Amino acid sequence: MSGMKTDIKLIDENGIRTDGRKFDELRPIKIEVGVLERADGSAYIEWGENKILAAVYGPREVFPKHLQDASKAIVRARYNMAAFSVDERKRPGPDRRSVELSMVISNALESVVLAEQFPRTSIDVFIEVLQSDAGTRIAGLTAASVALVDAGIPMRDLIAGCAAGKVGGQVVLDLNKDEDNFGEADLPIAIIPKTKEIVLLQMDGNMSLEELDKGMDLAYNASMKVYELQKEALRNKYLKVLEEGE
Ligand code: ADP
Repeated sequence: MSGMKTDIKLIDENGIRTDGRKFDELRPIKIEVGVLERADGSAYIEWGENKILAAVYGPREVFPKHLQDASKAIVRARYNMAAFSVDERKRPGPDRRSVELSMVISNALESVVLAEQFPRTSIDVFIEVLQSDAGTRIAGLTAASVALVDAGIPMRDLIAGCAAGKVGGQVVLDLNKDEDNFGEADLPIAIIPKTKEIVLLQMDGNMSLEELDKGMDLAYNASMKVYELQKEALRNKYLKVLEEGE
């Protein structure tokens, strides 16, 4: 969110956005479960132009050992953007942004994993952004929670999310890269659908209390749609496994 004034028209006279969507429309989302041979669990998500892989390892022995928790498993997510995932080559390796995103994603996942069942272990979640177009923290988190289920990790529920924001003076759902760059505000949220608890909430830019309310509403409803897609992806994978076993 640059807050920068530009001449780019983000919403036209008919209320249509740069990629043809209406204000409350999600980008197309495709989720595939179990795409990696060597991970304990994995998922691949395409969310608009975002392409992201999530891989889960564990529960396994904690390394380094002093990080062990005698009462529960530790959940460690690592969010990484590939050097080729953005327009200009991104400098490889962790930076402030990826460290922060890794932390908020870890915290969100920790809120659903039944970690007490696996004391002294770690559950490691790798989120690799292969192509990015805004909304990657939520898309990565969405894929990661599906990958945790694929790894057989006991959980209270999935985590589902979506961002809302303000663009061209209007509150809209699911910002793309241009909207994120040249819009007024970005508001990613993630929830535990079953309990309606919010487990991630961030805001960048500025919007009024009323707009925030509207944005939360849009993002919440979209999160429930994302939840259905996650469950459908899991059903597809495991129905296939069942059929093949017959
Ligand atoms: P999110 O991807 O969760 O929306 P941001 O709002 O921080 O996170 O970033 C929005 C988009 O900006 C990213 O999806 C990515 O396309 C781009 N971006 C972020 N960091 C960089 C970077 N270091 N170099 C180039 N592009 C970046």
